[in-house]
Amino acid sequence: MRYSETKPPVFTLTAGPVDAYPEVLRALGTTVLYDYDPAFQAFFEDLTLKAQEALGCDLPPLILQGEPVLALEGAAASLIAKDDVVLNLASGVYGKGFGYWAARYAKKVEEIEVPYDTAIDPEQVRDFLKSHPEVKIVCVCNHDTPSGTLNDIDAIGAVVADAGALLIVDAVSSWGGMPTSPSSSQAGIYVTGPNKCLGCPPALSLVAVSEAAWAKIEANPDAPFASMLSFTDWKSAWKKTEPFPFTPSVAELNGLSAALDRYLDEGPEQVWARHALTARICREGIKGMGVELWPASEDIASPTATAVKMPTGIDAGNVLREARARYGVSMSAGRAETLGKLIRIGHMGPTAQPGYALLAVAAMGGALNALGAEVDVAAGLAAAHATWDAEIDA
Ligand SMILES: *Cc1c(COP(=O)(O)O)cnc(C)c1O
Repeated sequence: MRYSETKPPVFTLTAGPVDAYPEVLRALGTTVLYDYDPAFQAFFEDLTLKAQEALGCDLPPLILQGEPVLALEGAAASLIAKDDVVLNLASGVYGKGFGYWAARYAKKVEEIEVPYDTAIDPEQVRDFLKSHPEVKIVCVCNHDTPSGTLNDIDAIGAVVADAGALLIVDAVSSWGGMPTSPSSSQAGIYVTGPNKCLGCPPALSLVAVSEAAWAKIEANPDAPFASMLSFTDWKSAWKKTEPFPFTPSVAELNGLSAALDRYLDEGPEQVWARHALTARICREGIKGMGVELWPASEDIASPTATAVKMPTGIDAGNVLREARARYGVSMSAGRAETLGKLIRIGHMGPTAQPGYALLAVAAMGGALNALGAEVDVAAGLAAAHATWDAEIDA
């Protein structure tokens, strides 16, 4: 028996969007209130304050009406003025991509780019900023998802703060799945979204903006307003007494509320531990069957997605198709520069569960063998299982 490509997979173990938590799915099906009903306005204020608690930011965050690409583009448009010099840090496809947005608004974009299986060295950023005091804004991606690699945004944030510049962070696929926050990274703008580790469908952005970044946005004559990209439009909309710039996505906000409740009830530290353990079991399983991880060092492997290097002569697309057809397991391809070179197993939200790591190892190993790669699936599963048991018995 093979699984049909025209029917949904049995297991979605992708690197985002991920399947939603059952609580979120139920909330998406609840009453759609009129946005100016006082009950909805009070709900939106409470929701924003709940998001602030979860993010641990100083000011109420923005909840924008589009998946996080909206907030990333909006960050570039709102913060960067025509006479700004920006330093973009690129260790992967998303980091690189942010530089193209920055270039639309900045006078000049400088860039530090490193191979996409490595991470940015904060000391290199320090040296660069010393020799380029004109840089006002630095941009970095925390977890560059198409590579499954992490940048140390707290260390980079400290360097950027020392230089008196503002940091824009893309934490879309890390926040909510590992210890990272707007305050620990000293971010001016910290962008994340509910569609990765919070286990919501793709639809909204969460954005923490610091006092200093608001001051810069408000002084930027080119910052958009009356626009989908505008941060300014939404600054006060969280208060139940203030109007919305346009209609919020009521159903998606109901889903976000359920996801934040779930996150805060389970406890962020427990949630992060669950992501970290799932990723560790997965990595041990992959290595145990004799297959290599994509990140050059395991220190920079993300706890929210495991990127697996394809053995020589094996086509990643065929492995994905085979895993889905044989086992009903859907995983993610690479993107742009990493497309065809790796496969990504997501550990985000509902799929950050140890059992899914075993399933992913079995599905990937079986697919590789079906394509003639000759990997030792049993050894991989034994290593994964031993890692899980060691944690249980610790
Ligand atoms: C998912 C993700 C985004 C959102 O972008 P899409 O390409 O639309 O999914 C942004 N940044 C990172 C690092 C992501 O993982």
